[in-house]
Amino acid sequence: MERTNTFTIDDHQKLWELADNCARLYNEVNFERRQAYIRYKRFSWHPKHLYEKYAPIIGSATAQQIINKNNEAWRSFLSLKRLEAQGRLPPHIARASMPRYWKRNGGRELRIIIRSDCYRVDDEYLYLPKGLRLRYKGELKWHGMQGRLEIIYDDVDEAWRGFMAVKVGKPPLRGGDKPLYIDLGVINLATIWFDGLKQPIAYSGRAVLADWWYWTKRIAREQSRLAKVNRAKTSRRLRRLYRVRQRRFRHAVNAMIEAIVEDAYALGISKIVLGKLKGIRKNNHDSKANSIINNFWSFSYIIRRFKEKAEEYGIEVKEGGEYRTSSVCPRCCSKNTAAKGRLFKCLSCGLEAHRDSVGVLNIARLHEGEVNGAVAHPLLLRWNGMRWKPKRAMNNQPMKTLEARISRLQPWRVSTVFT
Ligand SMILES: [Zn+2]
Repeated sequence: MERTNTFTIDDHQKLWELADNCARLYNEVNFERRQAYIRYKRFSWHPKHLYEKYAPIIGSATAQQIINKNNEAWRSFLSLKRLEAQGRLPPHIARASMPRYWKRNGGRELRIIIRSDCYRVDDEYLYLPKGLRLRYKGELKWHGMQGRLEIIYDDVDEAWRGFMAVKVGKPPLRGGDKPLYIDLGVINLATIWFDGLKQPIAYSGRAVLADWWYWTKRIAREQSRLAKVNRAKTSRRLRRLYRVRQRRFRHAVNAMIEAIVEDAYALGISKIVLGKLKGIRKNNHDSKANSIINNFWSFSYIIRRFKEKAEEYGIEVKEGGEYRTSSVCPRCCSKNTAAKGRLFKCLSCGLEAHRDSVGVLNIARLHEGEVNGAVAHPLLLRWNGMRWKPKRAMNNQPMKTLEARISRLQPWRVSTVFT
């Protein structure tokens, strides 16, 4: 599986020159292809004249990497185009559009691509072609077979960032065929349950939502200030606010995903079933929640991160079938149910449950058919800006090992959780 080491790289004049020429090559290749595609619906995958023009300036390996990068963009455009013709575009893509240029805020987007065998890193330095040696900051988290290196200029933080692809081996499988079920939402970011868990565990989205909303308001204020003062649409400050909002959201989400997947691995779970998200948009009456849902990326981000994290632990992630979150009884499948506030009652079998639990239990029911013994009220965990905790915080000692964390620091996971 492929992972990425990221780090920041010390500034150097040569990076600016190299990146500018990489962007020129990319944009020239892209320009010719867009023209050819509009006129003839086809183009050459090997623009020899451009390769020969740029190879002496940026090196033949890098020139080829840049052309390959543009090839990738066109390949995915062409396959989207085929899906579009069949009416099968993914729901979050309105239409297939031709690959864009490397442009940003009126200038060229600065990117360099270095082939896997053309660079080297040690504990302190990054060694690039032509004897360029640059200091970098950041931990190389992944070790394995080195892939290509992308160096991108981040104009919000005004820093060069390296993204180094690494191929790493998969961890050994733990066996065990018990799936973990996860219902994704907004009021609760995730509610999880597996056979043997006394009560579902819900990760409350309220604090994360409030934080998102706070930064959204600051973004709106900055936007109206810009419009009044400069008649501008964007500024570095605005881009920074967007980034802060995104980082804070992602921090909470990643902490949640890490806790869920690490515990799943420790408990010998081999498969995660994610409830399908369809229908959430319609069913939600909370306008703040809707504002977040409409930023569709956040859900696709959560799903992607679940898959990536689970893959590190050799756990398979399946996107489960569509379910009716709160209208079907998870015990007897009856549709004769009633909801009042956050409470759910089945009028056929008498089951009373918290609505937050019903969704995840229904995913389990659709998958296996048995949810006996599961308690109807979820254990609610809250985000405090640092970590996910139950309402009443317990032991606060630093964690050493995963086992210690599960048995001591988060006793609710083990002692209150098993029947
Ligand atoms: Zn029932």
